[in-house]
Amino acid sequence: MDRPSILVENLFKNYGQTRALDGVDLKINPGEMFGLLGPNGSGKTTLLKILCSVLDYTSGNVEVSGLNVLRDSMQIRKIIGYVPETPVLYESLTASEYLDFIGWIRRIDHESIEKKKDRFARAFEIEDKMDTFVGSLSFGTKQKVAIISSLLHDPPLIIMDEAMNGLDPRSARILKDLLSEYASRGRTIIFSTHILEVAESLCSRLAIIYRGNIVDSGTPGDLKSRSGGRKLEDIFLEATNSNDLNMVVNSLKETILQ
Ligand code: ADP
Ligand code: MG
Repeated sequence: MDRPSILVENLFKNYGQTRALDGVDLKINPGEMFGLLGPNGSGKTTLLKILCSVLDYTSGNVEVSGLNVLRDSMQIRKIIGYVPETPVLYESLTASEYLDFIGWIRRIDHESIEKKKDRFARAFEIEDKMDTFVGSLSFGTKQKVAIISSLLHDPPLIIMDEAMNGLDPRSARILKDLLSEYASRGRTIIFSTHILEVAESLCSRLAIIYRGNIVDSGTPGDLKSRSGGRKLEDIFLEATNSNDLNMVVNSLKETILQ
């Protein structure tokens, strides 16, 4: 049996008085497309940052491909492609220069960078934006550049925090297909979303996180069959014990607007 891509044991994270993660256990295997689903403020970003070794934690144990996130942080950053919730890009570089820069940091040879830039720019239909300054790009195009930059070094582990947000439906579809292809080649994908439909259509397994706890997990089918074939929406609402109508309405709106 391969070692898990992600192993999280009894993970707690406090920000001062706020407890963001409250005893999370999680195991994700290579080749999984794993969705972390939860309403805003439930701890998704905190958990993903800890996995990427960009945020420390209060207590517990976290391993990424057998590496310890506290001890082996440099090695972990090499094997992860991470799209943060709010990517920070250099606004005064063009999209193409920015990707060159990331490729240089990742020590990718010039020829491969050029090839990858071309291929990804074509896939995401931003060939005509490559010479535009990042600062002048639309939110969606910036998001695409951030996604491309996370994939340049062909990472075995891809972590995307709400990466579908801001993408038009066509690009979201392209990203979904691309990620499925990566997963079928044994790469591990972990993404967070607060949009039920994204989780349902994309992941092979998902965990519902609420107030820093994983309240249910399994394949979308498992979750449904455990609750008598009900819709994922109902399971989500029950698992998060939600009476918060705003959250429900917003999440439904976003599902419809997708
Ligand atoms: P999600 O990504 O699911 O929206 P977050 O991980 O961003 O959730 O936040 C989880 C909880 O931690 C929230 O209550 C949030 O207000 C709190 N939190 C997140 N980041 C910080 C921070 N830097 N300082 C203090 N509290 C934070
Ligand atoms: Mg978040």
